[in-house]
Amino acid sequence: MDNREIADRLEALASLLELADASPYSSRAYRRAAETIRGAAVPVGELVRTGRVRELRGIGPGIESRLRELVQTGQIAELAELERELAPDLVGLGRYLGLGAKRSIELARSLGVRTADEFREAAAAGRLQGVPGIGPKTEARLLEALSRESEPRPRQGLLLNRAWELVGGVAAALGGRAAGDVRRWRDSCEQLAVVCATDEPGSVLARFAELSQIVAVIERTERRAVGLTVEGVPVELVVSEPERFGTALVHATGSPAYVAALEPLPDAPDEGSLYAALGIPWCPPELREQPFRGDPPPLLEPRQIRGDLHCHTTWSDGRAGVEEMGRAAIELGYDYLAICDHTPAVGAVRGLSPDKVRRQGEEIAAANEVLAPFRILRGIECDILPDGRLDLPDDVLAELDWVQASVHGGQRMPRREMTKRVEEALRNPYVRCLSHPKGRYISRRPENALDLERAYEVALEEGIALEVNGLPDRLDLSGMHVRDALRAGVQIVCSTDSHSIRGLGNMALSVATARRGWATAADVVNTRPLEAILRPARPV
Ligand SMILES: [Zn+2]
Ligand SMILES: [Zn+2]
Repeated sequence: MDNREIADRLEALASLLELADASPYSSRAYRRAAETIRGAAVPVGELVRTGRVRELRGIGPGIESRLRELVQTGQIAELAELERELAPDLVGLGRYLGLGAKRSIELARSLGVRTADEFREAAAAGRLQGVPGIGPKTEARLLEALSRESEPRPRQGLLLNRAWELVGGVAAALGGRAAGDVRRWRDSCEQLAVVCATDEPGSVLARFAELSQIVAVIERTERRAVGLTVEGVPVELVVSEPERFGTALVHATGSPAYVAALEPLPDAPDEGSLYAALGIPWCPPELREQPFRGDPPPLLEPRQIRGDLHCHTTWSDGRAGVEEMGRAAIELGYDYLAICDHTPAVGAVRGLSPDKVRRQGEEIAAANEVLAPFRILRGIECDILPDGRLDLPDDVLAELDWVQASVHGGQRMPRREMTKRVEEALRNPYVRCLSHPKGRYISRRPENALDLERAYEVALEEGIALEVNGLPDRLDLSGMHVRDALRAGVQIVCSTDSHSIRGLGNMALSVATARRGWATAADVVNTRPLEAILRPARPV
């Protein structure tokens, strides 16, 4: 059993514990353990067998005993029991239809059905009417939702990291390719698709239905199926003939507008030959949003990133120490890493006073002795106060190598005040980068009112870069804003804002978001060598 399989089983257990209304603490703990195991560099099955699995972060005695059971017997008894009791396929279908888990199970009980298929039959036969609490309106809504299954869309988009985990996992298990919104790296993914090529679609479709991520298949034709996760998220599987794989992949990857503009698509075994047959250059998936037939620019590549300029440590709200983060950055092949912990005004977490900034500086200097020629930069994520002043005095900022300025509190300010506030901060001579400029949390908090056009002007005058924050729920600037910023001549920085070693991996999300904004390496500050970061060219 490999790490991915073990992690999948723990995830399934976490989801079902949630459904069963078990303590939210335990389901979170299982989810975190699954995440750790998925990212572990060593075979976790081996650690379990040799009794060393608790050396992994977040794995205590309870989870260890579940892991031992799983590795020894191939299953977790409680998981099997919960699956019987809760009928995850019914729950998945219910969630897809907009019903809570409890309600789905009650409904199934009154209908006397045990599977999603039986539920659909009962609904089609008009038996929903007989269920207490279901009026004609609710029945009509459920039937309407059931009839929409051919156009699978989750009720709310998935964050990119979760979408990659799900779609990438399904694709890997079936030997196919992730497509849809995920492959274009959209910040919120609705169309989740996997494309496989085979002459024997039946066996792929059967394996799809058996995957631990898929609890119910709500639609199936000869070469296509739609499966649901226990959260009710639909995943589409397209199984193409090998000689049409390129066609199917392009079709399942591009936005409807992009694909429509290329139609009719010729039959092709791979994307290269499809674009060749159309007589246009291959197009990176990130640019397949709007119709485009031209020559794409040489987009930024992950390997061109030479360092991460925004991360946190245990000095504020991070989970790893200074040297630990430095070593992780070396593992990633970077030349430098800026540690930017918070300042006091951030409020919710401990922020660094001037005194602590200096003490952290000593720790960084010591780590640099050990890690040279790699360089940890002394940075700060300095709050921008409501009046535009910064949260640390200039003499402290002057000591630092890299200063990020951030709005945290007060995101709802009206446009003029917010813009003035940010402009004031960008005029500070020590500020190098504006963090997460629009302050959004995807599907949770809308963008702030900052006038970006004005921010671009000021950034350009002051030689300040704008961040493309790689936290999966931020991705701020967004791809669209990156494109505007670059058109205005502003430089960007691809950062992870990571709070752990694992978080450094979110660089992929930041880079992809920059690519969606047509960024090339020349537009991105942290593709440059250390000397260029330390001695910026002053704007004239
Ligand atoms: Zn921040
Ligand atoms: Zn931060």
